[in-house]
Amino acid sequence: MNHVEPSITTGRRRAELAGAGIAGLAAAIALAERGWSVRVHERSSALRAEGAGIYLWENGLRVLEALGTLETALHGCHPGWRRETRDDRNRVVATAQWSEERGRRVVSVVRQRLLGALADRARALGVEIVLGSEAIAARADGTLVLQGSDPVQADLVVAADGVNSKVRDSLALLATRRPLADGAIRVMIPRLPEERASEEGRKYVEYWSGHRRVLYTPCSDEDVYLALTTLDTDVRGKAVPLDVGAWCESFPHLRPLIHRIGGGARWDRFETIRLQRWSAGRVAIVGDAAHAMAPNLGQGGGCALMNGLALAVALEGAASVEDGLADWERTERPLTEHTQRVSALYSRVTTMPPLLRAAVLAWAGRSKWVTGQRMRTALHVPTGAKA
Ligand code: FAD
Repeated sequence: MNHVEPSITTGRRRAELAGAGIAGLAAAIALAERGWSVRVHERSSALRAEGAGIYLWENGLRVLEALGTLETALHGCHPGWRRETRDDRNRVVATAQWSEERGRRVVSVVRQRLLGALADRARALGVEIVLGSEAIAARADGTLVLQGSDPVQADLVVAADGVNSKVRDSLALLATRRPLADGAIRVMIPRLPEERASEEGRKYVEYWSGHRRVLYTPCSDEDVYLALTTLDTDVRGKAVPLDVGAWCESFPHLRPLIHRIGGGARWDRFETIRLQRWSAGRVAIVGDAAHAMAPNLGQGGGCALMNGLALAVALEGAASVEDGLADWERTERPLTEHTQRVSALYSRVTTMPPLLRAAVLAWAGRSKWVTGQRMRTALHVPTGAKA
């Protein structure tokens, strides 16, 4: 483990953060840009992004722009233009279309690239990222307790240590933690030249069969991200390494694709986390630690980015850290909770019989109201971002 030096008094406001994921790095950059002296404690010995690929919608892209890292993060990404949802007989039941115009964009990115871009930007702004430094608790007075080192004191502590946040739990802030019925295996496979060249290979496609779903997502010229979702009770379906036979039985038409899946897959059950409050004294909780959600809207990371930036903005003019954090929660929490609700509703379609699901998905694809609910987060102009 790296030794953590006691903080040096610089006259600048000091923030100690736990977790160098999307939320922690976004908050770190936004704070550093506003003059804070920032240190991020990351438990792992390297900055590793779990989960292969990620969708970023307009809201997330605006945050990356505000953080000064849009171009680097999106270098080599795949711009989304069309998504198809196909039923159990491989018939298209719903489509969505996007453009590369500002306001309607969605892209898919290799997670490691996104994380690397955020970390580079943070370091360029003077943020110290301490690897192998695990946070185990915090106190409302601004103390962060670290495994194997002396506690550190700051004007602000940010817990961005993910869904199993130790810092959050040390403050007893959890209101509910609800596992959903489904989860996903995520994996990256190399993209073939014919996929790069064909229209088919440039689409996002969601294939359904029974309770199982394969989401095909080109992420870069070299990479295709696959998310295979199913019920948590589906023992063969959720097995890792992947039970290739089980998935080929459900998707005979995708047999060549499924056979391309190698190692490195992981299973994650979806869950929704709700806190009593997003802060305690000088400690803020952000990202999955505060508001994990089902990934059906592809907005968990988007909300982590938005709330990380908004946190720093809220503290800019606040009379005290405590006041700023209360304002931050009041402003940002409603949209995050809307996103959690809509995303969890989409998890329900996994449990539906195929014919009903196809009808519901077709109706949802046509309904302006449903589309409005689903797209509200993507079309929101985040606090601190340009319209
Ligand atoms: P994390 O990414 O979990 O990062 C937490 C960091 O803290 C890690 O680096 C970890 O090592 C570190 N850490 C943990 N404990 C400690 C500790 N005690 N001390 C110090 N460091 C610690 N979102 C999207 O926007 N688009 C998508 O397309 C999308 N797809 C998804 C697909 C699936 C299947 C799933 C499960 C999620 C998906 N999400 C998506 C959600 C997104 O991945 C998360 O919302 C996002 O990663 C949350 O970021 P975070 O920084 O809060 O947490």
